[in-house]
Amino acid sequence: MTDRYDVIVIGGGPSGLMCALTAVGGIPINPPRNFRSLVLERYRVGQFARYGKLRLTHGWHFMGAPLIRDLEAEVRSSGCIDVREQEPAVAVRGCRGSFEVETPSGRYQGDSVAVCTGFFPHADLVPHTRNVRVVFSPPEIEARHLPAIPGDLVAILGGGAETLEFAAGLLKLRPEVSFLAVLEHVTEVPADAFPGVSIGPAPAQGAAVSAARTPAIRAVAGRLAVKEEHTVGLTLEVVPRTGSPSLQSCRFLLVDYNSYTLETHVTDFLRGSGIELRNGYVVTGRGGETSVPGLVAAGNIVTPVSGVLTALDTGFRVGLELHTQLYREKFGRDPPVFPWLPRGGMRQHPLA
Ligand SMILES: Cc1cc2nc3c(=O)[nH]c(=O)nc-3n(C[C@H](O)[C@H](O)[C@H](O)COP(=O)(O)OP(=O)(O)OC[C@H]3O[C@@H](n4cnc5c(N)ncnc54)[C@H](O)[C@@H]3O)c2cc1C
Repeated sequence: MTDRYDVIVIGGGPSGLMCALTAVGGIPINPPRNFRSLVLERYRVGQFARYGKLRLTHGWHFMGAPLIRDLEAEVRSSGCIDVREQEPAVAVRGCRGSFEVETPSGRYQGDSVAVCTGFFPHADLVPHTRNVRVVFSPPEIEARHLPAIPGDLVAILGGGAETLEFAAGLLKLRPEVSFLAVLEHVTEVPADAFPGVSIGPAPAQGAAVSAARTPAIRAVAGRLAVKEEHTVGLTLEVVPRTGSPSLQSCRFLLVDYNSYTLETHVTDFLRGSGIELRNGYVVTGRGGETSVPGLVAAGNIVTPVSGVLTALDTGFRVGLELHTQLYREKFGRDPPVFPWLPRGGMRQHPLA
């Protein structure tokens, strides 16, 4: 299937939804919707932000759920933005005026493409806040949070071998618990990493949780996905780098972000596009423009250590830039801007 759009937005978080709305409609007081946009979302729109209590200061926050609900409602009722969920972009080719974005189920043509993927690699884990905990503290504190009972399996997702050190620290304090460490960024688990701790492969498919007692820390190089959540924990699909995937039941999943480097693989699908990336983040100019004409980027994939305000702000600015270009091409003049600016737009502003 091939569909054509003025703007294809990759990523349906706060930056992507804001970018799509502004690209098709311009500033919020302009009623006309002159252009067509497509939002491609790997999981579900707002998958990450909707679970957050979003703090802007120490004392002031708002909830992600109503923010995403309102943005999504406006996008869906706009009549000119298509949203496709569960449809990740897997490749981008072309340049301004003739992009093709490929997903597992289709190819879409667009004049421009906005990359709004965020940097967060584990959005599929975020909905399971009851059974997933992000590790911020040393083992002494984290050990107190483990709700396990003897024989339970606790999974730990980490970037590298540091996670094994962390697991070993937890095991000393909570010897009744078994651990399964899944290490994403190593190709092979170092067998002799921690003397005194047995490192073994993940338990076989269907193995009972209690049968995982020996060794007490099993480690596997690979990745995992949550298959289902139930009252007593999660079912994970463990996909080793070598060997076949297995399903594991675990009571609790810890995500050890301290073991990751400040690098993201979310944009790996852009590698053939000619775009400049730095540690996986998109390098842009002030208007969100990248090294490929017509390919722009906004949100946390451009500004790694930032929050939702930056995502919304950059999504708005990049969307407005796209809208201005499209409007000029279609109508041969600048789009209307805020009404108190004199005729002629921004360039006539006394401070411009
Ligand atoms: C629990 C929690 C607490 C938080 N607390 C705060 C806080 O206190 N203050 C604050 O400012 N911020 C906070 N945040 C962060 C805030 O939610 C993010 O800054 C914001 O969501 C970033 O928006 P974004 O659009 O740039 O990226 P994201 O929200 O990450 O959205 C990107 C979207 O792109 C999708 N995607 C990725 N790759 C592809 C692909 N190849 N194809 C299609 N889609 C793709 C993802 O699935 C995702 O939905 C918190 C987040 C969480 C989860």
